[in-house]
Amino acid sequence: MGLDELKISRAIIERFFHKLTEYLETDVAIVGAGPSGLMAAYKLAKEGFKVAVFERRMSIGGGIWGGGMMFNEIVVQEEGARLLKEIGVKIHQWNGQPYYTADAVEVACLLAAKALEAGAKIFNLIMVEDVMVREERVVGLVLNWTATEMSGLHVDPLALRAKYVVEATGHETAVLNVMQKKLGAKLKTETGLVIGEKSMWAEVAETLTVNYTQEVYPGVFVTGMAANATFGAYRMGPIFGGMLLSGERVAQLIAERLKKEI
Ligand SMILES: Cc1cc2nc3c(=O)[nH]c(=O)nc-3n(C[C@H](O)[C@H](O)[C@H](O)COP(=O)(O)OP(=O)(O)OC[C@H]3O[C@@H](n4cnc5c(N)ncnc54)[C@H](O)[C@@H]3O)c2cc1C
Repeated sequence: MGLDELKISRAIIERFFHKLTEYLETDVAIVGAGPSGLMAAYKLAKEGFKVAVFERRMSIGGGIWGGGMMFNEIVVQEEGARLLKEIGVKIHQWNGQPYYTADAVEVACLLAAKALEAGAKIFNLIMVEDVMVREERVVGLVLNWTATEMSGLHVDPLALRAKYVVEATGHETAVLNVMQKKLGAKLKTETGLVIGEKSMWAEVAETLTVNYTQEVYPGVFVTGMAANATFGAYRMGPIFGGMLLSGERVAQLIAERLKKEI
């Protein structure tokens, strides 16, 4: 039987719209498919929650792929190594010291694979351009195609509802920026604003990133470099344990809330 181009087109269109429609109401909507967002997606989906991840780029993984200065190896400490082992990544202790390396490509692929296997859905090429708000609580996201934004077309977005939103857009803090600009949102930081990251101090930054992983505005949790930047912590360079642990932490915090609400 020959291939029918229209059937191929129909299959893609039907399946995609079915998938998107199914996720218009979710427990957790995660913005950004970097290491922290993917780890959060994996952990929450594994607990049985409905999770959608929105990624502006074509590819998932955020800053994982490039390792350090495009040397595609990452470094984690003991606690981060635990999480990499859990998702099946091969890790290698470095010179008998408490530093563990892993192949950056393997980390990106397995993190995404585990999140998907656990039941999370990843929507790439879609960017979050705004939030949906009710009485000083974020209750959803406003989405558009990345291509729409890139081409500067005047096209209205669509919206989805989520019980919780995770700001995992890295240094950019894209979700919080728009909330500050449009809502004048007062965040749970010293100044009420995104403070911005400080210069490099890896050891302190790794701990602070996990400590700063929290609800920063009703309905919105920050994780990864976004948590770091929001609270004005130090940058840490290509050591990724803090990102993974922060993703795990945000999943724990949200799961606790969701379980209370059932
Ligand atoms: C450009 C770049 C610069 C970096 N600079 C540093 C640095 O200065 N210091 C440091 O310690 N580490 C830096 N890193 C290294 C390291 O990648 C990060 O520490 C780590 O990747 C952060 O993980 P994350 O999960 O917080 O976010 P990221 O890996 O940055 O992932 C965030 C994801 O969010 C997506 N995103 C952003 N906005 C939106 C939106 N509106 N809608 C949907 N998706 C969105 C991005 O495309 C990206 O995939 C950098 C990485 C990159 C890619």
